[in-house]
Amino acid sequence: MLITHDTECALDVLVELLNTSPQACGHEGLPDLAALRGFVVRRELSDVGQLTQGDLEAVRRLRQRFWDVLDATSTRDAAELLNAMIARAGTTPRLTDHDGHDWHVHYFAPGAALADRLGAESGIALSMVIVAGERERLRHCEAPDCVRVFVDLSRNRSRRYCDSRTCGNRLHVAAYRARQRTAPPVTAERGGVGVGS
Ligand SMILES: [Zn+2]
Ligand SMILES: [Zn+2]
Repeated sequence: MLITHDTECALDVLVELLNTSPQACGHEGLPDLAALRGFVVRRELSDVGQLTQGDLEAVRRLRQRFWDVLDATSTRDAAELLNAMIARAGTTPRLTDHDGHDWHVHYFAPGAALADRLGAESGIALSMVIVAGERERLRHCEAPDCVRVFVDLSRNRSRRYCDSRTCGNRLHVAAYRARQRTAPPVTAERGGVGVGS
């Protein structure tokens, strides 16, 4: 898949945003402004000014819209939702080489509200993925008790689990079990195979 570094970064931001949703993790992952600021810092989002309660609410609404795109039953439905989201965010493509980064395009206007910025940036990144016919790469974790989201950038789309500690370890657990066929069954929950400690 032809995917630029910028697109990949924007998809990573989107995945983290989606996984803060109560739908994904069972509680509100962005409960307050401090959590929102933490998200901005972790994702190294540049040019984000003072955040307000309004920003927090707008980001949560945007997150729900992205969730709807992800779960759209057809690519056409996903495209319509995405188009509406990007139109709402407004875009101002602009070449920049800020902070020592090589030239790249920002899709948001300088000083754009955080939700608009995320809507434009991650919305366009997701559009690129759809253009490439790779919509399925952004999907839910296959673990039976997990609905978190991940982006599968592996060559053969072989990834199955999100990168939460529990799920990420499932692959290792499966490999361990394959090697220990004769041993009595153990579960990850009991920590019997070195996970979840
Ligand atoms: Zn940049
Ligand atoms: Zn998972």
